[in-house]
Amino acid sequence: MTKTTYHIIGAGIAGLTTAKYLKKYHPDAKIILYEAAQNCGGKFKSYFDKKLDAKVDIATHAVLKCNSEALKIIGNVPFQKSVLFYDVLSQKFSCNLFSHFKLLALSLFNLPFHLVASGILKKTLYQMFPFYKSHYFYFSENLTNEKHINPYIQFLDEIHFNYVLKDVQGKDGRATKLCFNKKIISLEPNDMVISALDIHNFAKIFKTKEPQYSKIINIHYRTSTPLTLPQSKSCLAVKNALAHWIFVNNNILSVTISHAENINLSKDELAREVWKEICLIRKVKAPFVPPYRVLQYPYATLRHDDKNNLIRPKNCTTQFQNFFLAGDWTMRDWPCCLEAAAQSGKRAAKTAYRMQKKLSKMQ
Ligand SMILES: Cc1cc2nc3c(=O)[nH]c(=O)nc-3n(C[C@H](O)[C@H](O)[C@H](O)COP(=O)(O)OP(=O)(O)OC[C@H]3O[C@@H](n4cnc5c(N)ncnc54)[C@H](O)[C@@H]3O)c2cc1C
Repeated sequence: MTKTTYHIIGAGIAGLTTAKYLKKYHPDAKIILYEAAQNCGGKFKSYFDKKLDAKVDIATHAVLKCNSEALKIIGNVPFQKSVLFYDVLSQKFSCNLFSHFKLLALSLFNLPFHLVASGILKKTLYQMFPFYKSHYFYFSENLTNEKHINPYIQFLDEIHFNYVLKDVQGKDGRATKLCFNKKIISLEPNDMVISALDIHNFAKIFKTKEPQYSKIINIHYRTSTPLTLPQSKSCLAVKNALAHWIFVNNNILSVTISHAENINLSKDELAREVWKEICLIRKVKAPFVPPYRVLQYPYATLRHDDKNNLIRPKNCTTQFQNFFLAGDWTMRDWPCCLEAAAQSGKRAAKTAYRMQKKLSKMQ
């Protein structure tokens, strides 16, 4: 019998975690990853920004210590023990998580609390982010590839960049061909496939219902010296302002704005307005705005309401017995985040491996 090959499509956290667990469950098998971009990480990666002349993350991420799978991705890093909140209107600081619950919820769900699906709220409050142990958190340091992504390469036998999946063909309940822009790959009888695509691309390829999304905006400012935030914090949550979170990593000050669909400013106007807020918070006068990069993600996460939560699959199996789903969006009742992406990869790897064992016994 030929060696089993697992074909994983999409090198985000879901695809990489799938590879990690497949290597554990089935060390003799061959694991091949195909990715449309030129690098791994999907939404969780860093790049060199020429305008800023610095490495930055394409999206600034925060991770809570209670997220068990996400914790394995980010490894042994220093965690912040508290979050400092600043209310721009009252100009007051506070460390009380409960009195800033709405702002925290907006960041977790990328949607105001009252619109969030009941299933997602339940899962989050009871299982995923139990608040009593949620306040230890880490934020990405613009070195995501070196620190968190590159270690995953060891789990792969082959990796093919610039491979864009266009179609999957099947026969008699099995996927038989993966059609990429560069090549068509015919699947052997005991080959398994895991799609770890984001939902926007998955819906386009498989012509499934496209959900609604919530947008996130990140702005990176390159300052001439590392800036200090009040109380010498490197992170601040902001209330009653355009900016929701401010993070400082050396000379890069990064801002995250959640649920950003209603912001109608141009990129330059937004960068200027947010910079004014930063100066107000730091109580300094700023004659000019430092070089900045505004990154907008209209498809950042699914819109986490009931309607869109119900579009998500109930499990990771498909009409094809050798084709499985991973990706943050495939975890119904979970907010789309690193933890959901990693959990989906673990689930898909386990299910694909079990099915492979079952099918090989029958052959
Ligand atoms: C701005 C922003 C801020 C965020 N902040 C946080 C945060 O603070 N904390 C947190 O936990 N989460 C956060 N998230 C969410 C988190 O990034 C995602 O949940 C997670 O990265 C999703 O991983 P994934 O592997 O499911 O999907 P993706 O990372 O989207 O990976 C999908 C991969 O598939 C590839 N692909 C797409 N189409 C094709 C194709 N046709 N053929 C081959 N490959 C293809 C893509 O190039 C990509 O590499 C944030 C997201 C954004 C955008």
